[in-house]
Amino acid sequence: MRTWKTHNDSTIECICYGRSNVFLVSRNDHHILIDTGTSPSYATIRKTLNAIFASGGKAEALILTHAHFDHSANASKIKAAFPLRLVAHRDDLSHFINGTNPEIRGSRPFTRFITDTFQKPLSGMMRYSPVEIDVVVDDRYDLDAFGINGYIIHTPGHTPGSVSVIVDDEIAIVGDAMFGVKKNSVFPPFALDVKTMVQSWKVLLDTSCSTFLPSHGSENSRELLERECQRYADLPEL
Ligand SMILES: [Zn+2]
Ligand SMILES: [Zn+2]
Repeated sequence: MRTWKTHNDSTIECICYGRSNVFLVSRNDHHILIDTGTSPSYATIRKTLNAIFASGGKAEALILTHAHFDHSANASKIKAAFPLRLVAHRDDLSHFINGTNPEIRGSRPFTRFITDTFQKPLSGMMRYSPVEIDVVVDDRYDLDAFGINGYIIHTPGHTPGSVSVIVDDEIAIVGDAMFGVKKNSVFPPFALDVKTMVQSWKVLLDTSCSTFLPSHGSENSRELLERECQRYADLPEL
């Protein structure tokens, strides 16, 4: 299990690593969960939350970075089992409520061919249990109420309602706004609007964060993100 610590004593743990990362952000006895992974991740999430509640800790929020199935599949189960408030962006809201995916669009010629050809069957296969969102986020949302020194910002592009979570202005949890699968690239294979996504990278660079934790793969450095911002600044439309 990978763990990061900020200078302000917040801890970020990747409690499920692999298909889709699930993060737990903690400060003193306060915790928030970010994303839920796919169905097999549920057992680990349940165990983690049970341990927090058994020890008298407070876990009050589940933040969903966007409405794709590999991030939201366990959200309704978690909401039914634990007293967490679900937090997500307004622009993906209708998908959470219906258990559907915002359009998955390839960001490179090959992945674009796949998504253009198989969009309909893919969307049907990837449905998940619908879930009500308790706290609807627009541009920014402070996490003080949940005992965490951080905030959520809107980082659209991968989907219209994608968000990132900034902890102590030092570490950002970015969902699929970037990937960490290739050593020298943060570019995700799927994004609805690449130009908007690159704009969101700039918004993330406007924070003081030095580390960016994606949902797929491992951490990206600020230096890599700066290089990628320049590289994709004048990307032609697919
Ligand atoms: Zn996604
Ligand atoms: Zn994903």
